[in-house]
Amino acid sequence: MIIDVLTLFPEMFEGILRTSILGRALQAGRLSVRLVNFRDFSTNKHRTVDDYPYGGGTGMVLAPDPIVRAVEDVVAKTPGARRRVVLLSPQGRRLTQDIVEELAGLDHLVLICGHYEGFDERVRTLVGNDEISLGDYILTGGEIPAMAIIDAVARLLPGVLGNEESARRESFSDGWLEYPQYTRPPVYRGLSVPEVLLSGHHGEIARWRRREAIRRTLLRRPDLVNWSALTPEERKEVEAIAREENVPLPHHIPEGGASSADPEGEI
Ligand code: SAM
Repeated sequence: MIIDVLTLFPEMFEGILRTSILGRALQAGRLSVRLVNFRDFSTNKHRTVDDYPYGGGTGMVLAPDPIVRAVEDVVAKTPGARRRVVLLSPQGRRLTQDIVEELAGLDHLVLICGHYEGFDERVRTLVGNDEISLGDYILTGGEIPAMAIIDAVARLLPGVLGNEESARRESFSDGWLEYPQYTRPPVYRGLSVPEVLLSGHHGEIARWRRREAIRRTLLRRPDLVNWSALTPEERKEVEAIAREENVPLPHHIPEGGASSADPEGEI
C-alpha cells in the first residue's frame, strides 16, 4: 500500500515513521509513506499556500491550487490504484476501526492535512472523496490525525504484526472491547490474577475472556453493543451480565431483550 501525506510540516512525521512496528513495516516494504509538502506546488513567488477568508473573519484559509495540484501529482504517480483521497477535518466522519479496515483494503491512500482555518471549500469538491475526523475536538493541523490513520491502517496490512491474530482479537475488531489482560507475577501488591487464567484450561479461559469482554463493553461502551448482530446465546449472556452488574441493557435493546416474545425479532 502507498500512503501519500500532503502536509506543510513533513518533519512532524520523522519520529513515528522510524519507530517500532511502523518503522519496521516501512523498512520491510510492507507499506510506503511519501511525504509531500504542498508548498512545493505553490506557483506564486513567495510560495504561499494560504490567504485571507472571503467575507472577512480571523485566520487564514488554505488556497485550493497547491493542494489540488499536489493531489493530481500523486495520483498521476500511482495510476490504476484503488484509491481514496481523504481530507483530515473535524467535520468528517469520526474514525473507527471499521473505517480503518475499509482504508486498509486500498492500494493508495492520500491524506490531506489542513492547517490554519482549514481548506478552501473547493478542495473538498474537486479532489476529496472522503473526510475523516479524529474526534470532536479541534487540533492545530491534520498531521496527528494522519499519523493515527497511518498507524492504525499499517497494523492491518499483511506481515506488519508478527502475529496476525493479535489484530483480529483487539478491541472493536469483533465488536467488543478486549477482555482484561494479565502477565507475571501472579500476585502483585495483593492483587491476584484470576484463577482461571492460570488453570491451563483453554475452553474455560476462552469462556472467561468472552464474558469479561462483554462485561467491559457493557460497563464502558454500551453504545458498541449491536444487538441485532448477536447470536441468541450472546444476547442471553449480555442480559445475564447486565443483571449481574445492575446496569441497564443498551438503549436499543427492547424491554425483555432475548427473552421477549420474539427473540430473533428486529429492533
Ligand atoms: N476551522 C475549522 C473548523 O472549525 O472546522 C478547523 C480548522 S483546524 C484549526 C485546522 C486543521 O486541523 C483542519 O483543517 C484539519 O485538517 C485539522 N484538524 C483539526 N481538528 C481535527 C480533527 N478533530 N480531526 C481531523 N482533523 C482535524
